[in-house]
Amino acid sequence: VVRLHDVHKSFGSLKVLQGVGFDVDRGQVTAIIGRSGSGKSTALRCIDRLERIDSGEIVVCGHRVDAPGIDLKALRLDVGIVFQSYNLFPHLTIEQNITLAPRSAKGLSRSEARSIALDVLAKVGLSDKASYYPEQLSGGQQQRVAIARSLAMQPKVMLFDEVTSALDPELTGEVLRVIEDLAAGGMTMVMVTHEMAFARKVADQIVFMHKGKVWERGGPEILSEPQTAELRQFVASDL
Ligand code: ATP
Ligand code: MG
Repeated sequence: VVRLHDVHKSFGSLKVLQGVGFDVDRGQVTAIIGRSGSGKSTALRCIDRLERIDSGEIVVCGHRVDAPGIDLKALRLDVGIVFQSYNLFPHLTIEQNITLAPRSAKGLSRSEARSIALDVLAKVGLSDKASYYPEQLSGGQQQRVAIARSLAMQPKVMLFDEVTSALDPELTGEVLRVIEDLAAGGMTMVMVTHEMAFARKVADQIVFMHKGKVWERGGPEILSEPQTAELRQFVASDL
């Protein structure tokens, strides 16, 4: 479903991605881990074409993301992305936040969009909050709304960039649980995360990035038996 091959990306003279490659199969959960500045967010943003790559190839759900003539609208219908900051519209209710994109981008009627909103809110355990405003919710609840908003577009792939790192520790669990449920439901996901225990438990594939490269990649077992000194050190620093 997602394929990166020999992806290079620089910001000025800074080489941020230096030949990154990995595949994500349908229904698979991939966790991208690595030290700060290793290029994790950049790699994720390239998948959704929020950044353009300098060379290499990225294919997502049949879209050649690196192609000059790419249909961005079609790509973004297939790919949902959620960031650390949830960016809900403060003046809209939870339901309005969620129905906005399905109505404008997909032309759904008010009642169609509403029924999808209630459905995705149920998935993230917030059925009772449809008429609330974002400020009336906790950080963890707001992040779950952001995930629901993305799900309302019925994407084929979900990308998450450290969606729990802005949250207090007691709120991260509820957000991770939502992601775990999505994984169990067969959603294809790529997540940048610092939650190593979660990655170990939920990810089918771990991609360890170091200095703009995929340094090690494999099943969760690579965390227990790192092949490189860099991953060994990274895992040790998490304990
Ligand atoms: P973190 O764990 O801190 O989020 P990361 O692995 O996600 O780190 P990236 O955000 O991908 O790292 O950044 C990789 C490098 O690219 C960093 O040195 C960063 O400063 C640089 N960088 C990222 N975005 C830009 C940009 N838009 N312009 C210039 N430099 C950038
Ligand atoms: Mg990052």
